[in-house]
Amino acid sequence: MRICIANSVGVSARGEHFIHFPSRWTALVGTEKGFTYYPYELAYLSSLLKRDTLHDVKLIDGNLLQLNAAAYSQRLLEYRPEVLIMEPSTVTFEDDLAVARTLQHTCGTKIIFVGPHASAFPAETVAEGIDYVCIGEYEYTVLDIVCGKPKEQILGLYPNARRPLLDINSLPFPEDTDISRWDYINIAGSDYKEIEMFASRGCPMSCVFCVCRHLYYGIPNWRPRSVASLIEEITYLRNKYPSMEGIFFDEEDHNAHKPFIMSLTAAIKEAGLDDLKYNAMCGYWSLDKEMMTAMRSAGYYKLRIGIETASEVVACAMKKKIDIPRLITVLKIARGIGMKMYGTFTIGAPEATEKEDLKTVRLIRDLVRQGLLNDLQISICTPQPGTPFYQWAQARGYLQSTDWRDYDGARRSLLIIRSIPRKPFKRFFGWLMKCIIPSWQAAR
Ligand code: SF4
Repeated sequence: MRICIANSVGVSARGEHFIHFPSRWTALVGTEKGFTYYPYELAYLSSLLKRDTLHDVKLIDGNLLQLNAAAYSQRLLEYRPEVLIMEPSTVTFEDDLAVARTLQHTCGTKIIFVGPHASAFPAETVAEGIDYVCIGEYEYTVLDIVCGKPKEQILGLYPNARRPLLDINSLPFPEDTDISRWDYINIAGSDYKEIEMFASRGCPMSCVFCVCRHLYYGIPNWRPRSVASLIEEITYLRNKYPSMEGIFFDEEDHNAHKPFIMSLTAAIKEAGLDDLKYNAMCGYWSLDKEMMTAMRSAGYYKLRIGIETASEVVACAMKKKIDIPRLITVLKIARGIGMKMYGTFTIGAPEATEKEDLKTVRLIRDLVRQGLLNDLQISICTPQPGTPFYQWAQARGYLQSTDWRDYDGARRSLLIIRSIPRKPFKRFFGWLMKCIIPSWQAAR
């Protein structure tokens, strides 16, 4: 059987480019091409299907190729797949659906939709004509489908119950033949030629806006890969791509478990891989001096942390742990050992008001002025369907749009924010950025 695994479209029907990251969130970046994240869940699926079946499996990345729905459909039709698997996020849903329908109608392809939007609206997705909808983490669900297991016995296949979370050590290394991992090295915030890797899955927290926590996993969790397998993968990548300068550990929470980090950093040094540069998505609540020093000495040069808000009111509504004194302690340790810190923030979150979001703006300004943050990212908190944030906003009548193409988190708030009734949110966001940018430019 010919199976095509297809990342989402790269360009919308409106001509805007997508930066697609379905288990986090997908952003629209205007008419200029952005960068492309390695589609790691689909890439794991691809290598799993190649390892465990005899089907003819091909992964094609229309997001990397920056194709719109029409061009992408033509590209996929060349392969005439009998099965097509796609992972749309909410903002790409309409365009991905157009691609799927073209293949369905032209060559009778069976369509499997996985990922956040289909998990949030499985019945509606089936009603759109999609043959199979997988809920949550999907690698083994899709494997069961293409192996012909009876539908009613497949956990994770709508309308059956969810599948237990998978053992990530049972997966092969992700796809690196049909697509090259080298083609994804230009991620924003990476200072070197870094290849994305995933050392763990999951997060013990439950932020209300989090797509992977609520749509993919369903429960708080954290699953590390074996250190031996990580060393083997880094070595493999280094040998295959000699120009590689580093690794970006782009999972949800690289440092959730201190013994894991201590053992990984020791193994990196022992394997002589500490001349590479490492960049990692971390949680600041579990960072301490011993862990950060071990990371720095193993080649880690940048940690990306989700700070999100300085408002207790917003943090409580987000179910996000904040501890500003601890944050500042961690940032000072980082500065002392030469570790760069990249902070992410969000405004327009549940219970956000002008007064509460200004606390976040002031914190950003202070951290930048003190030289405690090297990079920052500010997003507009977007109520992604299937998250408690979406349900909260919907129940209160705060959602301003149900046009899925608006759910991108980069351009405007989808909420009617209390206390900001007079200013369109875009103007409010622009004004907040003006408060921050001068300090940022001065600090740099
Ligand atoms: S800390 Fe990050 S990964 Fe964890 S639940 Fe919150 S947003 Fe999701």
